[in-house]
Amino acid sequence: MLVIRNIRTMRNCVRKVKGEKKIIGFIPTMGALHQGHLSLINRARRDCESVVISIFVNPTQFGPREDFKKYPRNFAADKRICQKAKVDFLFIPRVKEIYPPDYCSYVRVKGLEDKLCGTFRQGCFQGVATIVSKLFNIVQPDIAYFGQKDFQQVVIIKRMVRDLNIPVKIKVLPIVREKDGLAMSSRNKYLNKQQRKEASILFQSLQLAKEMLKKGERSSVKVIAQIKKMIKKIPSAKIDYVSIVNPESLEDVRLMSEKILVALAVWIGKARLIDNMIINETGI
Ligand code: AMP
Repeated sequence: MLVIRNIRTMRNCVRKVKGEKKIIGFIPTMGALHQGHLSLINRARRDCESVVISIFVNPTQFGPREDFKKYPRNFAADKRICQKAKVDFLFIPRVKEIYPPDYCSYVRVKGLEDKLCGTFRQGCFQGVATIVSKLFNIVQPDIAYFGQKDFQQVVIIKRMVRDLNIPVKIKVLPIVREKDGLAMSSRNKYLNKQQRKEASILFQSLQLAKEMLKKGERSSVKVIAQIKKMIKKIPSAKIDYVSIVNPESLEDVRLMSEKILVALAVWIGKARLIDNMIINETGI
């Protein structure tokens, strides 16, 4: 595995791999790797002849009062995981090369960026779309892998790729969860023991939504109310949003008569956790 710290070297490697007509699979991440990331790497390893993973804690997707500085960083452990998973190239660019002082170009995916998490984290998805398009330009992957965990991110990236004619295929893989259902996340490290236990409420509340649909409930207002009631029983929880939306447009759905996305963002102590579930109208 080659560890690459600058854009020029990454480009040279890409040129060489493309010259050998190898399919490039790419996994963009912010590091602090866990089983969720690993599921993407393993899939890329199966599908592609060359696997590139990037680790870049992207400053432009964090708000001024958010956790950019204390976001978990553990290069040694990440490197070991990548080596073991047989990654070919580990790309760790430096902030000052990605965003030089006179940097001024940004990608916006209007209409999708300001929904769900975008309401609470303004500018976040502009940062995401910008860094992902930059990484796509540098790595030029054939296939890029994303987790359903960040559902809104996936919808935005897919739209950006379509709208800007970026020649990459986007593959989305299921959410990898802990035994109690908590979606794996680098931010779970912020939870203390008690909060970690309480955090499983996110998944439980999504299960509740599924049960309600199965039993025939069609009113999203009622389902959202029940989810909120359940979460509010946890003292350390503070809800940012609980929404039921169309999984493509991310527009609110009132009457659940087709496939829907239940998405939520909840603070447990100092950790802002997100989770989601796609459910069809029969609750499956
Ligand atoms: P991050 O490092 O959090 O930016 O995530 C990098 C990629 O890993 C994104 O495509 C995420 O959606 C994906 N990912 C993060 N957590 C999980 C998980 N629990 N299951 C599946 N994919 C995940």
